[in-house]
Amino acid sequence: MTWDAEYDVVVVGSGAGAMTGAYLAAKAGKKVAVVEKTDRLGGTTAYSGAAAWLPGTVVQERAGLVDSTESARTYLNALLDEPDQVKLEAFLTESPELVTKLEEDPLLEFQFQAFPDYFERPGRVPGGRSFVPTPLPLEQIGERLDLVRPPVDRERVGKSHHLGQPLAAGRAYIGRFLLALDATGNGTVHTGVAVDELITEDGRVVGVAGNGTNGARVRLAARDGVLLAAGGFERNHEERARHGVPGNAAWTMAPEGSNTGEPIAAAVALGAATDLMDQAWFTPGIAHPDGSAAFTLGFRGGLIVDQNGTRYANESLPYDQMGRQMAADPARIPSYVIFDNTSLGHIPAIAIPEGDPEDHLAAGTWTRADSLVALADEIGVPGDALVSTVERFNGFAEAGDDEDFDRGKDEFATYFASPVLVPVAQGPFYAARLLLSDLGTKGGLVTDVDARVLREDGSAIEGLYAAGNTSASMTGKHYPGPGAPIGTAMVFASRAVKHLLA
Ligand SMILES: Cc1cc2nc3c(=O)[nH]c(=O)nc-3n(C[C@H](O)[C@H](O)[C@H](O)COP(=O)(O)OP(=O)(O)OC[C@H]3O[C@@H](n4cnc5c(N)ncnc54)[C@H](O)[C@@H]3O)c2cc1C
Repeated sequence: MTWDAEYDVVVVGSGAGAMTGAYLAAKAGKKVAVVEKTDRLGGTTAYSGAAAWLPGTVVQERAGLVDSTESARTYLNALLDEPDQVKLEAFLTESPELVTKLEEDPLLEFQFQAFPDYFERPGRVPGGRSFVPTPLPLEQIGERLDLVRPPVDRERVGKSHHLGQPLAAGRAYIGRFLLALDATGNGTVHTGVAVDELITEDGRVVGVAGNGTNGARVRLAARDGVLLAAGGFERNHEERARHGVPGNAAWTMAPEGSNTGEPIAAAVALGAATDLMDQAWFTPGIAHPDGSAAFTLGFRGGLIVDQNGTRYANESLPYDQMGRQMAADPARIPSYVIFDNTSLGHIPAIAIPEGDPEDHLAAGTWTRADSLVALADEIGVPGDALVSTVERFNGFAEAGDDEDFDRGKDEFATYFASPVLVPVAQGPFYAARLLLSDLGTKGGLVTDVDARVLREDGSAIEGLYAAGNTSASMTGKHYPGPGAPIGTAMVFASRAVKHLLA
């Protein structure tokens, strides 16, 4: 085999798990390559809020929170369906150790940010337990800024970072880990290489291959191991259809040109087992004129109806749970967010991104009318049904009690606004088309407690590790709280590096 370059560790992808894994391996003295398919680092992680659900760490302690490993154990056991206890315990043990280790590096800083856990279960703590990287001043990132993916609301309209503002959230995460990787002196970043092959020698993975943007084949050796942390396959229409993932590749939040799952396929070609392949981190997403959808959460008004003009769930449910409600019935995709003029022509929710209301109205993704009957007529929903749904809803709003779905009682709902149950009465009225979006698929390669990729018979493929959405999530069909995708990706990337260093 002729290699283009040789490393100790090759990390495929550049999101949460990839950057944690690359940094830790490089810090330990390994020569590391980060191999990214697109021309920017960060994937969906860069778009994200970068909350990390890592319980019992120094960050919560500094913030004086009631969080603990014990309460997190209680919460996860109360929520997850028959969780793998070995993995769960490893997650709980690794979380505090990992964060302490990361924070030894002055470039890696985290701070608590209140955001409630997503389920009322024993062990839930008030205000949640997740935290975020501290913002990164632009002067600190310097020219490496060009490598960091900009925020989704800007990138989708062809803009780069907000200059004059520090990098925040997911951009701070990627920027900080990139600087920390650079500072080790052991990291190399290859962008524009889409890995689609794992190269083996005597059954052990010893490198990767993929096509560069110029079409040339690139082969990189990995003496100690390969960590696949290249997201899921949310941007792959065919694979979504094959595995029955609800939603649509065009409606996912993953960046264009990113996660189509060839690293998962490459591992499957070596006999790797997969699990949870029909699962995603779901969310409702308002439709955009270009055919995409936008992560929509935090409703502070309005209501959601299906194509029969009927409410079917508590609109203030945490987004993955609301997405699952949508997936349960074809008459719910699309749904419609019905709102009035109280929010002055804007949707009474956080839509990432919202887009320009005038563009929505011109394109027909939003509809405006002077009466509910006229609105119903324009969106093709029975007018009498919509009117009676809104009247019933308004009655609940006036009484402060949603007898049908209990909206507005949970801490997750009131975190965004209080009350969230407000009448829809002041015309003109609006309907925004609502699709089933996702933050990424969460089914993928089956891994053990050390993130080693396993075959159907439970044996490990030597030299191969997976984390983040490339692996089947420890959380199964649940989204426990803010930062579960990133927190679990970080922990299992860390476990992988410990294993390959041992
Ligand atoms: C607006 C928004 C807010 C969110 N907020 C949070 C939050 O606060 N906390 C949280 O935990 N989650 C959050 N999420 C979800 C979370 O961002 C993702 O689920 C998670 O970051 C996925 O991480 P990942 O490393 O698996 O994939 P990604 O971050 O998507 O990274 C995968 C990378 O791999 C690259 N890649 C793919 N295929 C290849 C290949 N063949 N070769 C080389 N590279 C490849 C991709 O281009 C991409 O850069 C949010 C999502 C969105 C959209």
